[in-house]
Amino acid sequence: MSDLLTVRGLRKSFGTLEVLRDIGFDVPAGTVTAVIGPSGSGKTTVLRALNALDRADAGVITIGDLAVDFGAPVDRSTLARFRSRTAMVFQSHNLFPHRTVLENVIEGPVIVQRRPRADATADARRLLDQVGLAEKADQYPYQLSGGQQQRVGIARALALDPQLMLFDEPTSALDPELVGDVLRVIKDLATAGRTMVIVTHEIRFAQQVADQVLFVDGGVVAESGPPSRVLVEPERPRTRQFLKRIL
Ligand code: ADP
Repeated sequence: MSDLLTVRGLRKSFGTLEVLRDIGFDVPAGTVTAVIGPSGSGKTTVLRALNALDRADAGVITIGDLAVDFGAPVDRSTLARFRSRTAMVFQSHNLFPHRTVLENVIEGPVIVQRRPRADATADARRLLDQVGLAEKADQYPYQLSGGQQQRVGIARALALDPQLMLFDEPTSALDPELVGDVLRVIKDLATAGRTMVIVTHEIRFAQQVADQVLFVDGGVVAESGPPSRVLVEPERPRTRQFLKRIL
């Protein structure tokens, strides 16, 4: 299978704090990559670099046929094209509180992508149906549970029609009983062949859904491979220690 995403030599510091020293990995098209690791190890920083929310100091990220070298100046149109290939689902949904669910989902396509409103609305209704919220289209975010809001966040990201979906701990802000519904939606997307990179603490979920697991530690991908290896029989003592602590 060909790679949709390749990352080479990714580096990022905040002031004197070197967070990413040399991150490299590949994500084949149609697969799910789970990113795990200790708190503060730089998982979110990797994700934010992948959609250039924070620009890496160095490294080449290739998404599809577009390779961007962040060690060199990047012009605005290239950056815009690069960003449009991914969509991020955050820890908490960041929905616009004064807009309905449907309006939240069509905002990106209509305002950013300048798509006709009728088309965007039809797509949004289909996506809301896909995340199990067809009947909530005309409600406001405050009328929804945290898990439902997070599923709207997923529909909103899908509405941008990205090649690659990025999830930053999509269930960590939710009450435990709401986690399952969100994970189910992500699993459905995986089954449908969506390419996704998911930062998660849900090890059991990673085991079920991921094709590969990256253990980020010390600014590098310290261990990677299929979940049956990394999560069950890790080679490195650091990985073993980490899993023991959180399982
Ligand atoms: P993780 O997602 O693995 O918990 P993060 O990527 O959020 O880790 O953060 C890695 C390190 O970078 C942490 O020490 C964090 O405090 C620091 N960091 C993240 N973002 C910023 C920022 N915008 N400014 C300064 N430090 C940051």
